[in-house]
Amino acid sequence: MALRVRFAPSPTGELHVGGARTALFNWLWARKEGGTFVLRIEDTDLARSQARYTQGIMDALSWLGLTWDELFYQSKRLPLYREYVERLVEGGKAYPCFCTPEELAERKRKALARGEAPEYDGRCRHLSPAERQRYLRAGRKPAIRFLVPEEAKETSFTDFLRGEVKFRRLTTGDFVIQKADGTPTYNLACVVDDHELGITHVLRAEDHISNTPKQIWLYRAFGWEPPAFGHLSIILGPDRKKLSKRHGATSVEALREAGYLPEAVVNHLALLGWSPDSGEEVFTLEELVERFSLAKVNLAPQVFDLEKLRWLNRKHLARLSPGELLERARPFLSGYAGVPEGRLAAALELLRPGISTLSELVGHPDLGYLLGPLELSPQVVEELSAPPARAALRLVLSRLGPDFSPGKLRPLVRAVAAELGVPPRGVFHPLRLALTGRDRGPELAGIVGVLGMEEMRARLEEALRLVEEGPEGR
Ligand code: GLU
Repeated sequence: MALRVRFAPSPTGELHVGGARTALFNWLWARKEGGTFVLRIEDTDLARSQARYTQGIMDALSWLGLTWDELFYQSKRLPLYREYVERLVEGGKAYPCFCTPEELAERKRKALARGEAPEYDGRCRHLSPAERQRYLRAGRKPAIRFLVPEEAKETSFTDFLRGEVKFRRLTTGDFVIQKADGTPTYNLACVVDDHELGITHVLRAEDHISNTPKQIWLYRAFGWEPPAFGHLSIILGPDRKKLSKRHGATSVEALREAGYLPEAVVNHLALLGWSPDSGEEVFTLEELVERFSLAKVNLAPQVFDLEKLRWLNRKHLARLSPGELLERARPFLSGYAGVPEGRLAAALELLRPGISTLSELVGHPDLGYLLGPLELSPQVVEELSAPPARAALRLVLSRLGPDFSPGKLRPLVRAVAAELGVPPRGVFHPLRLALTGRDRGPELAGIVGVLGMEEMRARLEEALRLVEEGPEGR
């Protein structure tokens, strides 16, 4: 049977690391096996779901490269769930419950006070038709509860990652499958859809293990064969506490804004539970499809670590072609809209080895003078006014022949220094100040390569003009 897997996010917030890891593992598996990856938006909780989150989740998945083969919205399938709930009610496997939230809360409180399990006490199971009619006439809208069969108190299933998982008892009693407003609950809609959409394997995170027995009993009540279930480990922060906002950026959107490459995010997500025998760590999505295997999935809690992500990001930054780097960097270069592409690309090449994330380009101290006009501060002009500095600038300028290229900068500086009887630094330093306005930065030959010969000459002339004007002229 062909593999059909799904990712089923609830659009009640952004796509976080945990959900993205689930999506990635399902996607990799489907791609590896030539199966189908279904995206199912679980938006039946009308109060909490928002269209902007659905869009955000889809944008985040697309950005990561996790394309889906089929797309379903549960909100567009409400009549289907109602039909199936009706079927269970007719078969005596579910029943209307008229208890109000207040009554339920009160009974739960009392049960806890008596030291009993706070589960639903089954009160509405045995209402007579007349009692039901009375509630309905009084205007009460019933929820529908699944009648958990006695045998369900002990249940087990074979998790395809963990082996046999046993539950001593279902702790919730008869659980709600359709709310009083007529919308299905997660467990009901999930089972109906996994069945209707022909999902063969449900691969999701550990926090859903406790839903699995309920879902299995729903399958049995419908007379359907359940899919196979597998549960991945939980994800922790570096302090080994459950990953949360306290640990910094944990949504894919926030990671994108923080300047991480999708390659690096996907790479880190893949390593949250999977690792190859070879011990290699840096992979693109295509390489992961090639290498990924569920047999190598590790169920120990996994640590999502921004430091590790930064490291991976540097590795993936180093792998991008100049054109790719430019495309990825563009959203972070909005201040330089008018700069010619060639110059942008050259500046990025120069800065690439020094950055870990693309957001470091925003306000980067070297980008201003590389891409924009240069204005020397009075302190720099002052420093360049010293006679040895002036002499060095003048001599360099006079030696800039038409055949000059950045590769010739070093020999030129050495020759000028020898002629002036100063160490090379005595020439390099004023030159850097005159060209960049700063006393440190990337290698000077690289800077000259970005600026080009004409701009270099113009900046040297301008520095000398300011110096010669003297303090009165300023
Ligand atoms: N909508 C559920 C969630 O976002 C899906 C769980 C499942 O995969 O069954 O957690």
